[in-house]
Amino acid sequence: MTEINEQATKSLNFIEALVEEDLREGKNDGRIQTRFPPEPNGYLHIGHAKAICMDFGIARKYNGICNLRFDDTNPVKEDVEYVDAIMEDIQWLGYQWKNVYYASDYFQQLWDFAVVLIKKGLAYVDEQSAEAIAKQKGSPTVPGTESPFRNRPVEESLALFEKMNRGEIPQGTMVLRAKIDMASSNMHFRDPIMYRIITDHPHHRTGYAWKVYPMYDFAHGQSDYFEGVTHSICTLEFEVHRPLYDWFIDQLKTSDYRPRQMEFNRLNITYTVMSKRKMLQLVQEGLVAGWDDPRMPTLCGLRRRGFSPEAIHNFIDKIGYTKYEGIIDVSLLEHAARETLNVSATRVSAVLDPVKLVITNYPDDQEEMMEMVNNPELELAGIHEAPFSKELWIERDDFMENAPKKYFRMTPGQEVRLKAAYIVMCTGCKKDETGKVTEVYATYDPETRSGLPGSERKVKGTIHWVSAKHSLSAEVRLYDRLFSVENPSEDKDKDFRELLNPDSLKVLQNCQVEPWLAMATPLDHFQFQRIGYFTVDPDSAPDKLIFNRTVSLKDSWTKSNQA
Ligand code: ATP
Ligand code: MG
Repeated sequence: MTEINEQATKSLNFIEALVEEDLREGKNDGRIQTRFPPEPNGYLHIGHAKAICMDFGIARKYNGICNLRFDDTNPVKEDVEYVDAIMEDIQWLGYQWKNVYYASDYFQQLWDFAVVLIKKGLAYVDEQSAEAIAKQKGSPTVPGTESPFRNRPVEESLALFEKMNRGEIPQGTMVLRAKIDMASSNMHFRDPIMYRIITDHPHHRTGYAWKVYPMYDFAHGQSDYFEGVTHSICTLEFEVHRPLYDWFIDQLKTSDYRPRQMEFNRLNITYTVMSKRKMLQLVQEGLVAGWDDPRMPTLCGLRRRGFSPEAIHNFIDKIGYTKYEGIIDVSLLEHAARETLNVSATRVSAVLDPVKLVITNYPDDQEEMMEMVNNPELELAGIHEAPFSKELWIERDDFMENAPKKYFRMTPGQEVRLKAAYIVMCTGCKKDETGKVTEVYATYDPETRSGLPGSERKVKGTIHWVSAKHSLSAEVRLYDRLFSVENPSEDKDKDFRELLNPDSLKVLQNCQVEPWLAMATPLDHFQFQRIGYFTVDPDSAPDKLIFNRTVSLKDSWTKSNQA
């Protein structure tokens, strides 16, 4: 089946269904326009990928456009470093925006609109402290109290708003509020703040030109409107903001066109944190190696961990979009990676904890090239060759001197197949004074070379190996979950930083990998046979190979979901 057919037969998610309804009703002249609106205050994480796949996916599916809009209304936390990283990550996922916009592009238009609202008697300058305003908010069941400044003359508010923006009013002492309804059952209608003063931080694009900055609720919907967005898709926590979103649009709109806000459930994953504030703390306090630490849920972290864009898409397809909050088991993310890498990663041999195997009856100087199938799931992937010789490295735990009955690997008197090579019979081992095995011995049967006629003799176990003379040493980084508890943000007694998993990174030196891996380049995907999926770390160099473990082969998701 082609990709298109697959798309067509997949059932619609609820957002797509609503979009199709709008199209059928001929809303906005059948135009589809979405936006992805990150705040440039951190790197994108896998939760953002869910939003990106929705925003760009809708545009792609319905022949519309999706713009990238940086929601840069808070100069205190924002930076250009993040702008560049965000663009890179979106493109890595395979999407291209039509235009790049910044909410700061609309500072003038937003200002002008605020002035219109003041003139209409729908906004006023409040001189109370933030605490006083918060106290007057009331609760969902108790109406709020009106500010003493609520009914001040329009001229006064206009003059003060000007003064606020000239830097003549100290930060934190005045705000502009919409005048709506202090008794509304929707708390967001209780005279929401539209503007606050920020004078002590330059904006990354407008410098010190503005001294007042719009709040999210006043900037977002209007930006959508200025751009011509038809579907403004966001996460569920904004559902309660929607009436206010619509209220501002009502004040602004001059035709039938209006953007429609729709919400889906935010992605949460076990054993990690996804708030940018918390991730920034981990980075700044050196608790991880950076935003792209392979243990981070950031897209750059997952990339470095060995996730391909296809693996991310596979995961997003599996979780879907709903209207209720939940937390996704991280083993589903790992399962999606395995499923994708299984059909794309090249099979290679790597020995992580090497012990030498000497094949005593193999000629000293003989070398052979063995054919390794690159990917049994993908015939097109072809083969590569691996040298075989008298001395090999095998995994230490593939040998046991006194093995239990069901141990089908190397133990004296037992036969085992060396993957893609020969059947060998284990004959014994050598140990040092501490009892540690230093060499394992075996004899081989030349008639059993893989692929030779008559080589079909079956043995119970197959193990991997690399030729000791030819292998390359490598550093291998084994990553595990960053936190040791399912939901580190939930613990009321402990700070999330106390819940880090102390074993989330184990670095192995002197692993031995087959020489073919000399040509591997960063972010190539491999399956180390019998071990797991690995990628080449960007710090890797020809004389110092470094591999990161993406996931092990063992799938706890399928296991727990078959039970
Ligand atoms: P944080 O609270 O960590 O700063 P945010 O929601 O403020 O995150 P934004 O940069 O404002 O991050 O988000 C951009 C878009 O991505 C928004 O539309 C937001 O709804 C969406 N988004 C953010 N986090 C998630 C998530 N965990 N799951 C799904 N969508 C998300
Ligand atoms: Mg935000």
